[in-house]
Amino acid sequence: MSKKEKLDQLNALMSCCNNCALRKGCSQVVPGDGNPEAQIMFIGEAPGKKEDEMGIPFVGAAGKFLDEMLATINLKREDVYIANVVKCRPPENRDPLPEEVATCWPWLEKQIEIIDPKLIITLGRHSLNRFYPQAKISEDHGKVFHKTFPQMGSRFFYALYHPAAALYNGSMRETLIADFKKIPKVLEKTKASD
Ligand code: URA
Repeated sequence: MSKKEKLDQLNALMSCCNNCALRKGCSQVVPGDGNPEAQIMFIGEAPGKKEDEMGIPFVGAAGKFLDEMLATINLKREDVYIANVVKCRPPENRDPLPEEVATCWPWLEKQIEIIDPKLIITLGRHSLNRFYPQAKISEDHGKVFHKTFPQMGSRFFYALYHPAAALYNGSMRETLIADFKKIPKVLEKTKASD
């Protein structure tokens, strides 16, 4: 089975998920978007209002900013895969609760297993802390991490600020843009040490 077929199958299961209370308060599950064969996988926090309406991650203001930054490194969203730690919109865009993140984890784990990206780019603190609970986004953005997981195997990570947090904060925005520009070099390095 191709990666696309495997992801389609997974997404069909995901769309029926009722494993936590978030599903009752949202319009639909937002599994992910992009190229199943991508070398780079971006992982954000959770769908917002627009994502909940459209069923696609990062289509609101933060998504537009992400698309702009992708263009600066000659990538389109069709070249990468984009998903979230939590697949259903939390009410009023509140932070996902630890139990919601834990309940949703097997979906993300399966997505990573299928796509098998060379580099996982975490967007924001929730995404970084899902993989590195002790990490601090203010200190660890722009850094590469490596870890071996029982289920997902050996993985490289690159931590970035969340585009929504950086959008209206001048200095964070500059930092995110600068970190973003390093992605091609980071990818080459991770591929070389794989
Ligand atoms: N913020 C996220 O973390 N994910 C989205 O899909 C949209 C905004």
